[in-house]
Amino acid sequence: MNEYPSDYHRRLPYGERMAADPLLGGPFFPFEGDLQVVPLADPVLPEPPRAGEPGGTPCPTCVDPEKDAIWADHQWVLKAFQPTGLPMVALMVPREHFRLDNLPDELTATLGPMIQRTAGAIRQIPGVGRTHFNRWGDGSEHFHVWFLARPLGMMQLRGAMIAAWDDLLPSIPADEFQANARTVAAALAERSGAPLGKGV
Ligand SMILES: [Zn+2]
Repeated sequence: MNEYPSDYHRRLPYGERMAADPLLGGPFFPFEGDLQVVPLADPVLPEPPRAGEPGGTPCPTCVDPEKDAIWADHQWVLKAFQPTGLPMVALMVPREHFRLDNLPDELTATLGPMIQRTAGAIRQIPGVGRTHFNRWGDGSEHFHVWFLARPLGMMQLRGAMIAAWDDLLPSIPADEFQANARTVAAALAERSGAPLGKGV
């Protein structure tokens, strides 16, 4: 690439491998031993379209708004897809297709309360110590917030690597996943909306 978009980009050593040392031995890092970091890739500009953007794949939420939904009210939908290594991994989306930057006032007004309510609902699952949440937004244009249940006392799972642990740990049983989803949906329905979900 000839034209980098900033001095930051121009400084980076593309094609080289960074040392893994800054992460090794850290309390939240789940790997040890001889690790090799992948070579740093060149920037891709313009960036490829996300799902739901012109030229990208269709927006999965708009194609089937209540697929995998475990709860919804007139503004927000909470989805939980399948059993994974954590007691609950859920995705909160507005019913309508917006980005963070064009989310209308009536949705930004309830975004904070919904984060608070969802975090509290997930903490009602037995054995959950804290609810993590994050917004990445690099896969789909439809605004979405991830929630991850951090099991009580599992201090290695603090921080961003909880998403890696979710893939590494054995999946919870299907009936436990469904019970956890029912717990979260019932807690949210105390304030608004209703539980959803076929088979949950
Ligand atoms: Zn959408």
